[in-house]
Amino acid sequence: MEATTSRILRPMQPVEIIARKRDGQPLSRAEIEGFIDGVTDGSFGDAQASALLMAIVLRGMTDEETAWLTDAMTRSGARVDLSDLPGTPVGKHSTGGVGDKVSIVLAPLAAACGVFVPKMSGRGLGHTGGTLDKLESIPGYRVDLSVDEFKAVLREVGTSIVGATADMVPADRRLYALRDVTATVESVPLIAASIMSKKLAEGSRALVLDVKCGDGAFLRTRPQAEALASTMVVLGRRAGVATEAVVTDMDAPLGRAVGNALEVAECVETLRGAGAPDLLEIVCALAARMVRLAGLETDEAAAAARVSAALDSGRALERFTRLVERQGGDPRVVEDPTRLPSAPDRACVRAPRSGYLAALRAGAIGRAAHALGAGRTRAGEAVDHGVGVLVRARPGDAVQAGEPLVELHHRARRGLDAAVSLCESAVAIADEPIAPRSRILQVSH
Ligand code: URA
Repeated sequence: MEATTSRILRPMQPVEIIARKRDGQPLSRAEIEGFIDGVTDGSFGDAQASALLMAIVLRGMTDEETAWLTDAMTRSGARVDLSDLPGTPVGKHSTGGVGDKVSIVLAPLAAACGVFVPKMSGRGLGHTGGTLDKLESIPGYRVDLSVDEFKAVLREVGTSIVGATADMVPADRRLYALRDVTATVESVPLIAASIMSKKLAEGSRALVLDVKCGDGAFLRTRPQAEALASTMVVLGRRAGVATEAVVTDMDAPLGRAVGNALEVAECVETLRGAGAPDLLEIVCALAARMVRLAGLETDEAAAAARVSAALDSGRALERFTRLVERQGGDPRVVEDPTRLPSAPDRACVRAPRSGYLAALRAGAIGRAAHALGAGRTRAGEAVDHGVGVLVRARPGDAVQAGEPLVELHHRARRGLDAAVSLCESAVAIADEPIAPRSRILQVSH
């Protein structure tokens, strides 16, 4: 009784909150809010915040605690109000992978179907690329729009792809920086709250999530990816946002290109109808879900037909051109991708023997692109938009000894030796044919 009374009468002490979680007791809503307030205003020090993060990694969180954490983080900063749009805004998030250029094709495609797609994206860190870096390879493209500019582009074009403003979800910015250096990233409740707080602050009324799983994803196993997907679906729905998730395979790079401008060129090709089948499979599946979530179709087949029509008619490509132009980019890159930055030099990694390509491990290919300069190791570093890796053979293909498997686009051999050995290590050749696999591993209902 005394303990309860003292907790009511005096402000919650960080040490008490940490001790409760350390001892495996669930935290109350007030304790979680106290933690996030303290993280946001700085009164919870780095040491205390890190200790609580580690206790959460080790002890976990109930669904209720995770929902309270997400809600407190969402409310820690500015939120976008999209309630005045003449339609349901449907957001999209991917947990990130190698060659994951889905958003750049999907957002204009869904917009061409009549969906409003507000998209606040991130930059690449480590071996996975970031949508903002890819789009910034288009000369002039601005990702730093104000919220008013973002909303104006969204209203006119049906989509806008920008970076989050500095005042959104400040609690996540501080927590993520601490998690990064204290081995506390790998926790389903912390990852789910981090991602969902940012998506909920964006103001969408519905959301599709692409949870990547496998060699090139930060979640390697299916059980981990499925747990994250279902936790995020529950969090979205509890917050009143209709949320669906798809778990997709990230064992091999997605599509044909890995690297910023190379990926933008591939997006244009895909919007022209010449996309790689695996990329198209994911893009079309997510677009059809967004059409249903926006209330434009109720039937899956009708939603899929609307998506195909938007792609085949060229309307999706036209939306992309308008998006680029409206955000300050040079729209001539759509007609002429040679206007995108490119690297001057080429090298190939060839099949060591004849057989069937059994694996092209995405993690190693992503690290190869990074070694060439396509990615960054520390936040704030510049990236080389022109370099990267083009995939010439897909898992399952029959290959002849000496045939090029990947083409490296490099600048004066920078990082080339490391990139070549990484690509060599990515390859496995089998004697027997490999059964084709869908990229889509699981869908939520
Ligand atoms: N991406 C995020 O935004 N947060 C995480 O915690 C992990 C990946």
